[in-house]
Amino acid sequence: MAPRKKIAVMTSGGDSQGMAAVIRAVVRTGINMNCDVFCVQQGYNGLIEGGEYIRKTEWADVRGYLPRGGTPIRTARCKAFYERPGRLTAAKNMVINGIDAIIICGGDGSLTGADRFRAEWPSLLEELVSKGELTAQQIVPHKHLNIVGLVGSIDNDLSGTDATIGCYSALDRISTVISWVQDTADSHSRAFVIEVMGRHCGWLALMAGVASGADFIFIPEQPREDNWKEEMCSIVKKHRDEGKHQTIVVMAEGAQDRYGKKITTDMVKDLLSDPHGLDLDTRVTIVGHPQRGGKPVAHDRMLATLQGVEAVHAVLEATPETETCFIAINENKIVRKPLMAAVQATKEVAEVIKAQDFEKAVKLRDTEFADMYNSFMITSNMNTGEDMTLSAEKRMKIGFITIGAPAGGVNAALRAAVAYCLSRGHEPVAIHNGFAGFARHHADEDSSVRPFDWLEVDTWATWGGSEIGTNRELPEESGMELIANLIAKYKFDAIFLIGGFEAFHSVLQLEKARDKYPSLCIPITLLPATISNNVPGSEYSLGSDTSLNELIAFADKLKLSASASRRRVFVCETQGGRSGWLAMIGGLTSGATAVYTPEEGLSMDMIVADIRHLRDVFQQDKGKARAGRLILINETASKVHTAKAIADYIHDEGHGRFQARESNPGHTQQGDIPSPIDRCRAVRLAIKCVKHLEQFGPKAQHDIQKIKKDPLTASVIGIQGAAVVFSAITDLEIQTDWKNRRPKSAHWMYMKDIVDMLGGRPSYPVPEKSLVGIMAKDAKRGLIVE
Ligand code: ADP
Repeated sequence: MAPRKKIAVMTSGGDSQGMAAVIRAVVRTGINMNCDVFCVQQGYNGLIEGGEYIRKTEWADVRGYLPRGGTPIRTARCKAFYERPGRLTAAKNMVINGIDAIIICGGDGSLTGADRFRAEWPSLLEELVSKGELTAQQIVPHKHLNIVGLVGSIDNDLSGTDATIGCYSALDRISTVISWVQDTADSHSRAFVIEVMGRHCGWLALMAGVASGADFIFIPEQPREDNWKEEMCSIVKKHRDEGKHQTIVVMAEGAQDRYGKKITTDMVKDLLSDPHGLDLDTRVTIVGHPQRGGKPVAHDRMLATLQGVEAVHAVLEATPETETCFIAINENKIVRKPLMAAVQATKEVAEVIKAQDFEKAVKLRDTEFADMYNSFMITSNMNTGEDMTLSAEKRMKIGFITIGAPAGGVNAALRAAVAYCLSRGHEPVAIHNGFAGFARHHADEDSSVRPFDWLEVDTWATWGGSEIGTNRELPEESGMELIANLIAKYKFDAIFLIGGFEAFHSVLQLEKARDKYPSLCIPITLLPATISNNVPGSEYSLGSDTSLNELIAFADKLKLSASASRRRVFVCETQGGRSGWLAMIGGLTSGATAVYTPEEGLSMDMIVADIRHLRDVFQQDKGKARAGRLILINETASKVHTAKAIADYIHDEGHGRFQARESNPGHTQQGDIPSPIDRCRAVRLAIKCVKHLEQFGPKAQHDIQKIKKDPLTASVIGIQGAAVVFSAITDLEIQTDWKNRRPKSAHWMYMKDIVDMLGGRPSYPVPEKSLVGIMAKDAKRGLIVE
């Protein structure tokens, strides 16, 4: 039998949230794939020190790592590794331990060091043999070193990946601080200058600016024009004149002018508080190290876990000919990419900034960065860019309507869309309380159809719910003829819907009614927003990230309680309608023992197998492991086996050796303040939606037949794999499981095996009517090797 493969994992360089989750995923996947896994303590220091620093790690050792901040195996910067003698000792220690595959989670420095180590490996081994430190025989099984990188960094500064592990947690910390600051700023009508991390990368400052609706930002990639002082003061003055009571300026640490001269927080503060100018009571807040700390948000846990699993596959599949790769994410896809090309591109950004080629600097960042920058400029500097305004005949009257249950990010989307509309000269109009409100209250004095008041809308960036009111009623229920007549009466040139499955269904009903009602022959688009994340055409809906974070915050507490009480299992019910997305991703990001979804269904045999597993687990741990167990069950997974019933079965079968309780976070899953991810995506996608509507032009220019024939005039925006796309509702109609109100395939279904594997769940009898195989068929693992 071939000896077990030995792989190592380590964290290096600057720490970030999610590194602990990486270690858990690598250790457990490695063990699952029949490897011995070693954790190297303190980055490259540990490789050089050897001995106790390179520890074989077992399954149970990484229990509880998923929600932890920081890195439990420590990280370090290591001078000695820059020099060949340091790397020589590291190579020797690896061979002594039989390790020739290593997964490194760190920034571009750590990954550069790793690539260098790999390139030198054969010569290092030769030298070790020639010096008599290793025998020729010892090195035979370890001729090649395989390395895979994972990018752990709060700055999101590596080219080629949309997100690095930790960046969204840091953004969450910043956004929270800014929201606190906004409350006090507003009360005192103060201005705040907020400095965030990012010496060469303005991602955090940019995203924080977008998420919080800041007035002005400074980022290194895109310094302002020479007149930045006048520009900032005039924008702030304009916002104050409009009636704003607070001013927020976000600065990256690396803020500079076009000539590379640093712009400090004090310089900005002095300008804002100048008694001869704006004369604002101004304070400076430096967010500092809290940005690196705290629990990872759901996105970072997911990224760390999926990338950790992928890294083990990659390192085991690598051959001597394979280029060193790192694991990236592009939009919603986990991909392997050549490491050094990304490191080179990252270094190039710093160089071009130094050479003051700022256009190129933004281009070298991912497409989302440029998109977000433009979105920020549009929403913060609304109406001042004359060149954006369209000529009169191209302007449109656009009706906005939200349908279904509230979801985080809806207000941010409305704010961004309205700002974009106003800067283009369009007329954005709010239709209050969905189609029901439109149908019943259009004739009221306080009509359901009202233009947006910008001063009011401008404050919506961080608000939960829907400020224009929402309702589940479909247009056919409200009366299609009435709705069509109202659209004609108000002379709408386009309709912009935001909502979940009911909104999706509404778009289809409107499209189908076009033959009968010509007033519906206008462009209609939907921005999906629902915590169930079940809208066909998109792998992501606004609000889904907020609810996921709410759910895992709840689940973390349950696990803590369960582990403190020892030998307790919580069975927690999740929302999600007939889509198991929230339960499954909640399970992935909170570390569930089992997840029950409506797609798979539930059977007695399955529950019995899971109870047997729990019995074994609790028998083996002899009361030592302080780990609580968690089972997540979607609200519609079974009519008979409810969370309460399952908890009762488990409790009863525990015979006093273990206990079970049921728990339900209920409507708290809709969230409070939307997550920064939902807010930022809301801004980006909403602007894209208006641009999409814009391309068809106002009604006066419509050729009705052309509108009818163009399937994209009734569309849904979505993130699909690595792309943001508009899909025709008529195409999506056939991809929809109407009875179960979800897409026929599920992009997330491949994660089920990962959840089961990382939770240590043994195989179980699959319920007879399980759709898992069918739904996962079209939604492949999502691996692009570039
Ligand atoms: P980060 O990984 O966060 O970018 P650093 O740039 O400090 O952080 O790199 C972390 C460690 O990686 C360094 O302390 C060093 O041990 C190693 N390292 C970085 N660059 C190289 C290099 N060019 N050659 C060898 N080792 C390197």
